[in-house]
Amino acid sequence: MKEILGTSNKYLDINLTDKTWKIHQATQDDLKMFLGGKGLGLKIFYDKLKDKLGDVDPLGPDNLLIFANGVLLTTGAPCSARFEVITKSPLTGYMVASSCGGPFGEACKTAGWDGIIISGKAQKPTVIRFDDQSVIFEDADDLWGAKTHDTQERLHLGPKEAAAVIGPAGENKVFYANICSGHRFAGRGGVGAVMGAKNIKAIVARGKEYRCVPVNREKFEKTMKKAKAHIARSPFTKGYKAFGTNMNTRFGIDSGYTPVRNFRDRYSPKTGAITGEVMAEKYQTRHSTCRYCSVLCGHKGMYPDGKMRQIPEYETTSLFGSNIENYDTDKIGIWNDIMNDMGMDTISAGGTMAWAMEAGEKGLRKTELSFENHDNIARILEDIAYRRNEGAELADGSKRMSEKYGGREFAIHTKGLEIAAYDPRACWGHGLSYAVHNKGGCHLGSYLVGLEVIMGFMPPQTKMGKASWVVFCEDLFAGINSLQTCLFTAFAILTEPVVPKYFPLAVLNVATILNPGMSQMLMNWSVYSDFFSAITGIPMNQWQFKKAGERITKLERYMNVQMGQTPSEDTLPDRFTKEAVTKYPVNSVVPILPMVKQYYGIRGYDPKTAGPTVKNLQRLGISA
Ligand code: SF4
Repeated sequence: MKEILGTSNKYLDINLTDKTWKIHQATQDDLKMFLGGKGLGLKIFYDKLKDKLGDVDPLGPDNLLIFANGVLLTTGAPCSARFEVITKSPLTGYMVASSCGGPFGEACKTAGWDGIIISGKAQKPTVIRFDDQSVIFEDADDLWGAKTHDTQERLHLGPKEAAAVIGPAGENKVFYANICSGHRFAGRGGVGAVMGAKNIKAIVARGKEYRCVPVNREKFEKTMKKAKAHIARSPFTKGYKAFGTNMNTRFGIDSGYTPVRNFRDRYSPKTGAITGEVMAEKYQTRHSTCRYCSVLCGHKGMYPDGKMRQIPEYETTSLFGSNIENYDTDKIGIWNDIMNDMGMDTISAGGTMAWAMEAGEKGLRKTELSFENHDNIARILEDIAYRRNEGAELADGSKRMSEKYGGREFAIHTKGLEIAAYDPRACWGHGLSYAVHNKGGCHLGSYLVGLEVIMGFMPPQTKMGKASWVVFCEDLFAGINSLQTCLFTAFAILTEPVVPKYFPLAVLNVATILNPGMSQMLMNWSVYSDFFSAITGIPMNQWQFKKAGERITKLERYMNVQMGQTPSEDTLPDRFTKEAVTKYPVNSVVPILPMVKQYYGIRGYDPKTAGPTVKNLQRLGISA
């Protein structure tokens, strides 16, 4: 295998319309400023389309579909086999970056490419195959219509190959269709619909020609040892290893964040039937993860029908469990399989169906869906994928449907992206995170529920200090996501040192909200900047790493503002800001407006545009 010192900075730039390709060479300066992966992918999108960001139709040929690998990939660093898909989302109309832990990224990187940039539109269904030297466009007529896993099988992938594919949902441009690689997904924001609109059924990378070696091997090995030790001894890791992300259900029941009945309620005694503990026992679960994973949150298990299935993530379990008043985990496993086969995001599908159930109950719209009867869910999921019957409208997501029929107050999304399964009335900082995150209702923008509830470092129902923490975590997570290492490493690495070890929770609960700046100084994320500089040879300390995260976040925000995003979209559905009474002993609503105002202040955003000023961008080295 040939070696690349550091990373190649080479992107395969494919034009589908005229079936040509060329090399896009990113600079070391861009790498330093945007860290690779998601950050550099966004920068490439911006550079190529900055004059017409608002005009690009997400499903038109002008939109770009960018696959971006991180600098850690192929080095064996923990949880580093992820790649990012970056595009303009058909669901939100704004930028979306969606991460996947499947094998495609590694095959692409070991073919010598740090990513691929796809523009234009193929005339007919196409498979793109590429290696380090060539790109071939193959007819995909016989694959069109195949499910995600069937497609991968029928591609007859060789030992050096891996694919990124879409299922029927992507072909039919379901606004929340995803992209599948192996058994993992780039889930959110409709990246699969963009691929379908370009007529690409599959992209096959033939790799194993190159591997990237760190410029400073000694520093890399030292950092690797430290990261692995931190991850291994984290209580977070232990919980995820044992119960997967469904570990979170127990915290949700206790704190009132696990949603019930389209987030109307925050508690049901029946939710105990769908916890990670119950599923681990019932399905005798074992690990089934992304490659190079050290946290091991992915699990599979044996279902009563004799089928080995991937255990649904917490978000899927909750949104197809308590949120639609279903407490049968067997059904959730089967529905999860259908969505994975069809290639659609389970969070948006679940949120949209729950909205339709409530809208039906309130007489706003006729529907076959109901909280009381789940027998037709499997069929309706397929109807969504094929855009037939009621599924044709459900495929557009809850925002568009509520704009058409009414019921906006209980359409549980921000900026059009359905919210994951954490009710923000139980964790106000997490609510702020949903409200202001560039992508919309993604739980991983700053995941404040981790600090507020799961680790218990700060009181969840106060607005004090929350804006500062959202900014801090957004910047850091943008950096970590751009290295394309799993965010779950952050829960172990960020909280490893001084803070949780030597400060009692009572002290942390006061310090984190009264003096968030000082508390943040006590955290240590140098593992990430050390990894970056060891691999690339570009010197970087942890504060410069965080600054790069700020640059990525603000560039993305600026692009969204150019695409039409307004301050009125930095908010939460009325359900969370006006409806206090729920089936949970401690009632509250989220005081979102003052927190957003504080957030804008810290970010330096112009309250009239909700975006960075030109001066602010220039200070970060971005030309607007
Ligand atoms: S922790 Fe989970 S999501 Fe992260 S890399 Fe491992 S299996 Fe994938």
